[in-house]
Amino acid sequence: MICDKVKKTMYMTGTAFLLLCLSACSKDAAAAPGPEVSYVAVETTAELPPIEIIINTKQESRNAGPGAEVNGSAGAASAANGLSETPAAPAAQVAETTAAPAETKAPETTAAPAETKAPETTAAPETTAAPAETKAAASAEGPEAVALDPSWRFADYSKISSGSAMLYRAQSNRKNIVIGVNAGHGTKGGTSVKTWCHPDKTPKVTGGTTSAGNTQAVAVSSGMSFSDGTPEAKVTLQMALILKEKLLNAGYDVLMIRETDDVQLDNVARTVICNNRADCHIALHWDGDGLSYDKGCFFMSVPDGIKYFEPVSSSWEKHEALGAALIGGLKAQGLKIFGDGTMDMDLTQTSFSSVPSVDIELGNQSSDHGKETLGRLGDGLLQGINAYFGR
Ligand SMILES: [Zn+2]
Repeated sequence: MICDKVKKTMYMTGTAFLLLCLSACSKDAAAAPGPEVSYVAVETTAELPPIEIIINTKQESRNAGPGAEVNGSAGAASAANGLSETPAAPAAQVAETTAAPAETKAPETTAAPAETKAPETTAAPETTAAPAETKAAASAEGPEAVALDPSWRFADYSKISSGSAMLYRAQSNRKNIVIGVNAGHGTKGGTSVKTWCHPDKTPKVTGGTTSAGNTQAVAVSSGMSFSDGTPEAKVTLQMALILKEKLLNAGYDVLMIRETDDVQLDNVARTVICNNRADCHIALHWDGDGLSYDKGCFFMSVPDGIKYFEPVSSSWEKHEALGAALIGGLKAQGLKIFGDGTMDMDLTQTSFSSVPSVDIELGNQSSDHGKETLGRLGDGLLQGINAYFGR
């Protein structure tokens, strides 16, 4: 079924060639079941502009999420790519024809390189399509909102999960490595809800915001205030935004857990999102220790008492290797390090993390947090990330 406009064009040129292909399927690496798409490609002689006809699609947006819509292009190369499987289908199924000679829209399914993140844990019951599909469909054109998928492992431990993280992709020199950047704190209502400290609901083994012995902790604590009155959450956000730019410029993709004063994602949700969409998880904090001098930087290392349960038992060495790399980078930038740069702490983040995951404390309430210092801290963190990933 061809519209009159196209017929007319064909008669006029007398040289048009019609290629009808139906039910092509997207074959991106993620192997997500894409919407069925029908294509008609019309090739004309060289003197004429190519005519592109996009015939649509029996079920639009069958798969929820960004990028679910697939456009067929009649550009020769892309059509050839996209139409390798063309089971015969009656032309009568074609619902709608749009002649769009001038359109040059690139096929999104071929533009986005496949995400290469491998599943980190054997047990993670990654349901077929949903996460992989959005990974593959995301284009480099803009950030992608990443919400907590309820089918992800441990997602049901989260109590605050209506917000979304944002995934940014580097524009050049892409490393295909996603850094999860988590600006600590900044969830309204986070202190009035509690979540389990451990997946197996056993009690905490160290103190911290919640003392040892408790089985539940506040979903997101409010954080400390610097000695000049600035809330920690403001500074962690500034730090995250600075680090994001440095990472993107260096070719890393960045999953920003929080970009404004408030994100409705608790510590469990933040962790589970990173587990599934990032190659590591770096939570930015300053310590509220009450000291009147700058203590220096350290990371929260994994206490022996939680190394027996999953996913800690199979992940803690990666957490500590990443933490050590970050401290190494900060040290190389001449920043002050507290002791050997570690402090054992039983954190919700650590307890649910299956990708390399670190809570890094970039000082305490007495530390300088001006732009210049945050810039140096960002350089140190980038250097550490490069070292960890061997870049
Ligand atoms: Zn903090």
